[in-house]
Amino acid sequence: MADAVTMDKIVSLCRRRGFVFPSSEIYGGLGSTYDYGHYGVLTKNNIRGRWLQAMVQERDDIVLIDSAIILHPRVWEASGHVEGFTDPLVDCRTCKLRFREDQLDTAQCGRKPSKHPGETPDCDLTEARQFNLMFQTTVGPVEEAGSKAFLRPETAQGIFINFKNVLQLARRQPPFGIAQTGKSFRNEITPGNFLFRVREFEQMEMEFFVPPAEAEEWYRYWIEARYDWYLRYGLRRAHLRVREHGPEERSHYSQGTSDIEYEYPIGWSELEGVANRGDYDLTRHTEFSGTKLEFVGPEGTARYVPYVIEPAVSIERIFVAMMVDAYDEEEVAGRERTVLRLHPAIAPVKAAVLPLIAKDSGMVEKARALYEQLRQSEVVEYDEGGAIGRRYRRQDEIGTPFAFTIDEQTLEDDTVTIRERDSLAQERLSIGQVGAKLDDELSKPWTTPKTD
Ligand code: ATP
Repeated sequence: MADAVTMDKIVSLCRRRGFVFPSSEIYGGLGSTYDYGHYGVLTKNNIRGRWLQAMVQERDDIVLIDSAIILHPRVWEASGHVEGFTDPLVDCRTCKLRFREDQLDTAQCGRKPSKHPGETPDCDLTEARQFNLMFQTTVGPVEEAGSKAFLRPETAQGIFINFKNVLQLARRQPPFGIAQTGKSFRNEITPGNFLFRVREFEQMEMEFFVPPAEAEEWYRYWIEARYDWYLRYGLRRAHLRVREHGPEERSHYSQGTSDIEYEYPIGWSELEGVANRGDYDLTRHTEFSGTKLEFVGPEGTARYVPYVIEPAVSIERIFVAMMVDAYDEEEVAGRERTVLRLHPAIAPVKAAVLPLIAKDSGMVEKARALYEQLRQSEVVEYDEGGAIGRRYRRQDEIGTPFAFTIDEQTLEDDTVTIRERDSLAQERLSIGQVGAKLDDELSKPWTTPKTD
């Protein structure tokens, strides 16, 4: 059966359950800009946390950095962004819409949506002009020449300009990496498809510095490691693929680039990019800053400019892929339920604690006590509002993997029901074992029950 998960369903669930909503809504919104609500923030934190776990915590060769968003303007001259971080923009004089020239074959004509821009006799497209995607700002109180600066369009450059600091202060030698997560800003010509292409997004990038002769090997290593990370967190193999760029598609500095693509509802599109950037960045910053960015071995035994392998992704693109992969609708006992089959490590809430009857003070007391115990180590939710079936469905919709229900029998023998989100299996266990059971369940490997 065809997968019926559409972007509209994901947008609607995200909004209905307060994961993500349009920004500045009370002022009429600001196109393609979004704010995250409680569950969205928790989910993003989990995605970032699992990335940091794999990239830093579980390794000995990668360290962290958190650089400024507004860097010295020369950084962006050296990186090539001032000159070359552009997209070709065309306007249609008839419908007044704006398009990226390189995406005309996937765009819709403003008058005839079944056609692409330029395909109808009425289309009147301008010549393409290059449009720089960096947001400009002014540093200091007076808008005067010389104080122009940019919001960073990627986190990578903040890593390169700190190469020397890390080499010396963290006493590293290649191969080693520097990882950074944080907001990046791009004035995209055609943002859209929900969070897939937005103007501000949170990047997670890691620059891995290697001896030039090992670059190809590490490039292959990182493509595989990042692909495996997506499988580890439950994305279906059939929806993931690696696509290597041909020489004509690669950036001028790249010695090799591969996209890890996901089959979004809009079709196969870039989820993460892995690039072999050669020595381009360190060489350019050496030229522009006059500070030598190179590795010198003990007593001068080796001296070279390392090559850089870069896996780069945004939380937004992972968030959408995980939501699409997890979204499911099914009929249970004659009733429809929507369920997010998220990996438990990604799910915003790990368990719900539910007293069967909200008016029963004995049940409430036991449920509150269990909730207060569990929340010391996990994000859990207490809910006593409405019929139990509705409460389960609310938790299913936000992807909560487990629910613990306190009922009449709990008052007699101190056992509770554990309900599992995907299989709907229920079993009883003693209230004293709930904490250990939850820990155990959350640390198990997990694969999605969704079939392709
Ligand atoms: P695209 O070709 O889709 O514009 P890109 O090749 O310019 O992307 P990179 O510069 O390689 O993207 O950025 C690295 C990663 O940052 C991408 O793989 C993607 O995960 C993320 N990313 C880039 N632009 C956006 C955006 N506008 N919104 C959300 N995520 C983005």
